[in-house]
Amino acid sequence: MSLKQTLKQLVKRPVQSAAVRFGPQNRRSDRPRLWVLMYHRILPPEDPRYASEEPGMIVHPDTLRMHLRVLRDTFTLMPLGEWVARAEQGRPLPDKACAITFDDGWRDNYEYAFPILQQEQVPATLFAVSGLIGTREQFWPNRIVRLLQQPVETRQSIGWLNALAQEGNLDAEASAQVIYSLKQYPDDRIIGMIEEAESSLGLEPPEAPALMDWEELRALSDSGLVEIGSHTCRHVRLRADLDHDTLLQELAESKAELGERLDRPVDLFCYPNGDYCAAAVEGVRRHYRAAVTTRGGINAPDGDPLLMHRFGVHQHSSDRPERLLARLSGWPMT
Ligand SMILES: [Zn+2]
Repeated sequence: MSLKQTLKQLVKRPVQSAAVRFGPQNRRSDRPRLWVLMYHRILPPEDPRYASEEPGMIVHPDTLRMHLRVLRDTFTLMPLGEWVARAEQGRPLPDKACAITFDDGWRDNYEYAFPILQQEQVPATLFAVSGLIGTREQFWPNRIVRLLQQPVETRQSIGWLNALAQEGNLDAEASAQVIYSLKQYPDDRIIGMIEEAESSLGLEPPEAPALMDWEELRALSDSGLVEIGSHTCRHVRLRADLDHDTLLQELAESKAELGERLDRPVDLFCYPNGDYCAAAVEGVRRHYRAAVTTRGGINAPDGDPLLMHRFGVHQHSSDRPERLLARLSGWPMT
């Protein structure tokens, strides 16, 4: 551990334990509050898919089970849709509620998370990308990781990638940095660059689909334990530079397709990458009852239902009960 990391840990520990003891999750309040947790992938370290994912995206299955038990002791666990409906209609809400959400519809959620949700009988919401369900298509950050995993000699022919990836062997952290720096560009430009690079290296899409298929998604939905929300058709970030027709299409078509295939109304939405602009919020208002962002914070019934806050959790920030609870205090430095 470097000196900087050691110092950071020294400051972090007392802040964390104070947050666990005195944070808002431990206090009573006159106003009902809702904590929404955001998960992405649920994978054990021995799974072959583990190595090609950004560490900030993963929680281990046994950690998820621990979370659900700790959360049940601290909060009233309820589906996001139910909390939103009760808040809308002015019906009673628990003092401290907590809703579990999963983004993207990864197949590992079906394989690892769903059995745990069933065993623990905890409801959840999953935000699916309607146009990618059952396809072999990958999200662009995963395609970047794959390109970066190619041998340096091969990769050298891709100018922009080489410029971003200055080091020889990229660890997970460095790959995350490359992805972060690409996020300044619009999605269609990034995808165009990736497609060109993949075809010049002769890379085919991976055999195994990364996301669930319709049958798996339907099984989640039919279980009555998991409600399905929309995460657009193609995981397009709803930024101000996106053209208006595409924006409206992503919102309306994903809702319609999910609703039709699952035989259920779809009225919750999740902004891809947490990006939104005024036009996106307006479009969401037309089609959905509520929407979640990636901004941390605790929700109250008088908050904006179209810009709800969530706490992102990943393995390293939540592998022990006190770390998870410190994170949910919303205090900085936890
Ligand atoms: Zn997403």
